[in-house]
Order: sequence, then C-alpha cells, then structure tokens
Amino acid sequence: MAAAYDLNNAGHDVTIFEAAGYVGGLAAGFKEPHWSSSVEKFYHHWFASDRDMLNLIRELGWQDKLFFPRPYTVLLYKGKWYPFDSIPKALLFPGLGFGFNKLRFGLVGLYLKLTNNWRALEKYTAHEWMRTWAGGQVYDKMWKPLLIGKFGPYYDQVNMAWMWARLKARTARLGTFEGGFQNFAEMFAQKLREMGVVIRLKTGVRSIKERGGLDIEIDDDRGSRQETFQKVLVTTSPSLLAKLCPDLPEDYLKGLLELRSMGAVVMVMSLKRQLSEQGYYWFNLPKEQGYPFLALVEHTNFVPPDNFGGDHIVYAGDYLEVGHEYFTLSDEQLLERFTPAFKKFNPQFEINWVKKVWVFKTPYAQPVPLVNHSKNIPAIRTPIQGLYFASMSQVYPWDRGTNFAVQIGRQAAGMMASDR
Ligand SMILES: Cc1cc2nc3c(=O)[nH]c(=O)nc-3n(C[C@H](O)[C@H](O)[C@H](O)COP(=O)(O)OP(=O)(O)OC[C@H]3O[C@@H](n4cnc5c(N)ncnc54)[C@H](O)[C@@H]3O)c2cc1C
Repeated sequence: MAAAYDLNNAGHDVTIFEAAGYVGGLAAGFKEPHWSSSVEKFYHHWFASDRDMLNLIRELGWQDKLFFPRPYTVLLYKGKWYPFDSIPKALLFPGLGFGFNKLRFGLVGLYLKLTNNWRALEKYTAHEWMRTWAGGQVYDKMWKPLLIGKFGPYYDQVNMAWMWARLKARTARLGTFEGGFQNFAEMFAQKLREMGVVIRLKTGVRSIKERGGLDIEIDDDRGSRQETFQKVLVTTSPSLLAKLCPDLPEDYLKGLLELRSMGAVVMVMSLKRQLSEQGYYWFNLPKEQGYPFLALVEHTNFVPPDNFGGDHIVYAGDYLEVGHEYFTLSDEQLLERFTPAFKKFNPQFEINWVKKVWVFKTPYAQPVPLVNHSKNIPAIRTPIQGLYFASMSQVYPWDRGTNFAVQIGRQAAGMMASDR
C-alpha cells in the first residue's frame, strides 16, 4: 500500500491484488461487535524510532490518531518479574548479580548502542560474539533465551548484526493507532481508493510470466484470467515468489529458496478479568523453564479494556518451524496445552475467565538472518525486467516490522518510477 501510494502520486495507474478478503497482511486485526477497537491477530506495536511508519502517518495527516503509552516489559528471575525494556532497567535486573557480569553486560550494551558498524558484526553469530564479549553467564541468562525463543533450532546461527539492530532501534515507549492497526490499514486503503488505486480483495495471484509485458494470472471469484502490466511489485514471502514466477533465472530462484524463516502460532483470548494485576504488558518467557509459549502479552495493559467493551485481551504466542505440532492442533487442544501456564501470571486464574479464543497461524513470520546475510539478500530489482520484489526477508540489518515494510515498499516504488 505504501508503494501504491507513491506510484499513484507519481502519476501511475496502480492495481493491488490481495488474496485475503481484507487489507493489512500480517498486521491485520479483528473486532468483536461490542469492541470499539480492533485487536491485531499477531501482537503489534510501533517503536518511537519507527520513523518511516510515523512519517507516513504524519504525511497522511493522521498523527492525532497515534498514541504512545509506556507499558511494562518484564523478565523472570527466581519466580519474580522484573522490568526489562532498556539498558538502565536491565542494569537493575538482579539475575546477573551486581559485580563483574553486570559491568560486562552494561559495557557491551553501551558499545552496541554507540557503534554503527553492523557490517563488522554480521560476520559473527550472536551466539559466539555475545559469549566472547558479554561472557557465558550473561549470554546464557539474557541473550540465549531470547535467541532460542525467536529462532528455535537456528538460535546459534543468527548473526550479531540482528542483535545489534534490535538493541539499537527499540524504544521503551510503544505506540499504536486509534482503533488498532486494522483501522490504520482500512483508512489507508480508503485513501488509496479515493486517489484512484484499484484494490482487488479475494484476488490471489497464481503466476507471473514475462511476455513482452508482464502477464499476471489471477484467480478470484470470477475464475481464473490474465492481465498484463508494465511493472509488477511482489510483496509475498520469497518461497511464494519462486512459485509464482518459475521463469526467474536459476541463481535468483536459488537465492530465494535458500533464505530461512520461522512461522508463528498465536492464541488470542478475551478474558472476564485482568490477568496481570501488576499491569504488565509483555512477559519474556524462558522456554527452558517449561512455558508452552515464548511470550505472553496482555494487550489491555497497553490499550485499555474500555476499547474492548471491558474485555481483557491476552496473547500467548510462539515462533516455530512450520513442521511443529502446534500448527496441527485444534484451538481447543492448544488452549488445553496453554491453560496451566496462565496460573503462573495470576494464581487465581480459572478457565471460566476465558470468554473466547482465536488462534492464528502463519508459516512466514520471521526471517532468520544467518552470517553475512547482506550478501544473500535478493535484489529488489529481479533479473526479469519490470518485476520487483520487496519482502520481510530483504529488511536488514533491522528486524522486520511494518515500519520497514513501508520503507522497502517506498524504496521499490522509487525504483519502479525511475526505471525505464
Ligand atoms: C507474530 C508477529 C508479531 C509481529 N509484531 C510486529 C510489531 O509489533 N510491530 C511491527 O511493526 N511489525 C510486527 N510484525 C511484522 C509485520 O507484521 C510485518 O513486518 C509486516 O506485516 C510485513 O508486511 P508485508 O506487506 O511485507 O507482508 P505481509 O503483511 O505478509 O503482506 C503480504 C500480503 O500478501 C498477500 N498475499 C499472499 N499471497 C498472495 C497472492 N498469491 N496473491 C495476492 N496476495 C497475496 C497476503 O494476504 C498479505 O496481505 C509482526 C509479525 C508477526 C508474525
């Protein structure tokens, strides 16, 4: 949508093909009839440093709909939760003692905040770099659980530039849009339609072929047919692009298929009562201590429950490889697996607090940046003239997010408009 906005502004006719029946992609949300706000299917917030997204919102004139509370992110130590969303907060965390380890942790944190030389860091895995510089104990307590949680079996292969970017760009203040991310996506879609952009929902692209122009075969409720465009931007996963366009040269296809990523399974519950009575928003969980998910997020400790008719909204989510059994369990089975853990956040929790459960699954949630990833990123300009590609896997060294989807979308639009 960000690319369509710029291309339309540059005087081009633009059509968006969207397989789903709604706009928003992975950042889409849903709403119960008695809620005034939507809630994201997969937990979402913005950082105060998300410049591209915040600038786009300002450009559209909707900055009064942004709000940035300062919710609590916490980490477990000896059965107690401690705030953990900034270097000063982390320095007060008792899990590292108050001696040499704390000093190393602080110095490494400071170095990573100050340096901009991520290219030097991408040559190392976060596993080896952190063990060397922060020390085995700090790594095992702080960074290893984070890497395992996010990257599972790839945890010791992720490069250090990813960790650098994460520490560099994140802020303690977190933001969202009035009415939720879905409200933003729908307002943006409406604006695009008014500008003349055609948005075809429930219209999946089946193939893209080079024949003078670019022939796109689409499938929608009127059946399958073909249309030709001068230029095409694909924003799906790399593996889907490889499937849609097998005519791409072998090298480029191989590059797409060699990229690694994790899927995600997220359960959303509406509850009658608040789960974290301390008002904590985000719980980072050490999986090795037996939690059946990576993160517990009480959305209504960020966006108040009066936006949801008094319901309390809680997410329990995990990044997983696509073959993981959570992808095959029914919603009821997953709830049964997760339920015992909820008492750890509030011993009074009872299953009858749960009003409704939704489960969302995606095979492509988080790219895995391996060592020297910058050399393996597929070019936005594909080898087929007129065909462009912009996906989460090309966002680097920053961790993927809607901010960077806007950035890469606008970068691609710039290329499309300037190329002959
Ligand atoms: C668990 C989780 C938590 C996240 N948390 C945050 C967060 O807190 N903050 C943040 O900013 N970002 C977050 N993100 C990341 C954010 O959602 C993504 O970076 C962003 O949505 C990527 O946008 P995109 O347009 O590149 O891709 P997508 O959102 O994946 O959009 C791709 C679109 O292509 C459509 N499509 C697929 N196949 C076809 C086809 N054949 N034909 C037509 N259309 C097709 C899909 O339906 C989809 O709408 C999170 C993601 C996940 C999974």
